[in-house]
Amino acid sequence: MAACEFCSIAAGERDVHVLFDREGVLAFLDENPAREGHAVVMPKSHREELLGVSEAATPGVFEAVDGLAGDLRAVLGTEGFSVFYTSGSLVGSVDHAHVHLVPRADNDDVSLSLDRTALDHADAADLAAAVRDRD
Ligand SMILES: [Zn+2]
Repeated sequence: MAACEFCSIAAGERDVHVLFDREGVLAFLDENPAREGHAVVMPKSHREELLGVSEAATPGVFEAVDGLAGDLRAVLGTEGFSVFYTSGSLVGSVDHAHVHLVPRADNDDVSLSLDRTALDHADAADLAAAVRDRD
């Protein structure tokens, strides 16, 4: 069995409820869902990062998230979604890159809490210019 839990899933070595399996992308129902329809979308081949690394798998994963959201909206009557991705080494126990797609509804008890601060406009102007100037 593969050492990586998600590689084991991709290899068909673990039973999951598959929602989508094509073009190198697998989506399945999370085994500990925050809400009904909570899905995990991942590249089938192991990688630790999807963003900012020009990975060939990245567009396929996010296209699958988009398509799956439409399917879940149709099947569950979902009003909206929370979509989140964090590099594996920074959170959780799985370092195989994956995106969570969580169907949402008014007054659900899902909590995605961020400590927010006031924007420093001088720093923001410098940061925005630095990003734009990368072209
Ligand atoms: Zn893996």
